[in-house]
Amino acid sequence: MFRLIKGQQQPHATLTQLINEGKAGQSYLFYGPAGVGKLATALEFAKIINCKHPDNGADETCSSCHKIDSFSHPDVDLIFPTPKFDVSDEGEYKKKEDQQQVQAYIEQLKLTPYERMPFGKSTAIHIDKIRTIQRKLRYRPNEGNCRVVIIVQAEEMTVQAANAFLKTLEEPPSYAAIILTTTNDSRLLPTIISRCQRVRFNAIPSQIIEEHLIQHYYIETALARISARIANGSMAKAIQLSKTDFIEARKMALDIIDALMKDNLATIRRIAQNFVNNRNEELLKDILDFLAIWFDDVCRYTHGSETISNIDHEDKLQEFLDMYQISDRIIQNIVLLLEESKRMLDGHVHHELVLINTYYELRKRIHSKGIFL
Ligand SMILES: [Zn+2]
Repeated sequence: MFRLIKGQQQPHATLTQLINEGKAGQSYLFYGPAGVGKLATALEFAKIINCKHPDNGADETCSSCHKIDSFSHPDVDLIFPTPKFDVSDEGEYKKKEDQQQVQAYIEQLKLTPYERMPFGKSTAIHIDKIRTIQRKLRYRPNEGNCRVVIIVQAEEMTVQAANAFLKTLEEPPSYAAIILTTTNDSRLLPTIISRCQRVRFNAIPSQIIEEHLIQHYYIETALARISARIANGSMAKAIQLSKTDFIEARKMALDIIDALMKDNLATIRRIAQNFVNNRNEELLKDILDFLAIWFDDVCRYTHGSETISNIDHEDKLQEFLDMYQISDRIIQNIVLLLEESKRMLDGHVHHELVLINTYYELRKRIHSKGIFL
């Protein structure tokens, strides 16, 4: 079971056991880092328990599986944070543009449950959504075996919504599986947590992310490996990184390395122009991540080329090492410096100055031969 979702053996084993024992219908809290497959698992779980031909998982071909794939199964409901939309008692959106926004979100989910299209404004799970669900839960499933309610980012429930929902969790119908997902369970009411079976999800090993990017997104190996490393266990982040901005960020990071090696200030000033008025913040964060991986690679390369990420830039790594003979201790210090630079971007600072300052600090360290430490 859960064959298509990688890197979560432990939660999948727990759920498989419950399904096999006929105990799937209950309330769950899927918790763990963002982008590791909590929603993907919840949707797969809904498929398995409602599949018309369940045989070691969902068959992916029956009408039930198809309806869940297209988010049109009458017994499977998905709730997620949105801006405050006007909805009827039946859960219909009163404004066409609101309906369109929600539809765009669903369309994105159909492509991949790892990635979500963000709503522009501040979002929450409002009480009207919870009431709609509660009305539906009064009735047995229409066509499936089990009603499934998935509440994504459950910590975004408003206080009223959470209190109303608590009533449902106190006496859940026997024909329903209720799944809450969260990246931050400390923001949930303890009374909600205590009524759910907790299922922990972990960061995905970068090797698995790398393989997924190569197989499903046709990303070349070097880029897949680097995005998997930067993503830090999050499939969603890795998928996001492997798009165009990522290539641009990597190119800029490599240009910065070039600038360091040639002592070329013009390059760094040109790159810094991209961040005037604090534009392109995510791009700048990605550049800092790339730089950290570059220096990590410098360290790894001294012990051999097997585990480096920049496998397409071995020559450059060698050239860099020949020029600087930089110690592991300095590299550790550089990685800390880059983390600090990233943190500074969240404060009230000019981002272009953070980049220029980072450049000078890097320059100082690679030329220091350890003296300043
Ligand atoms: Zn099926």
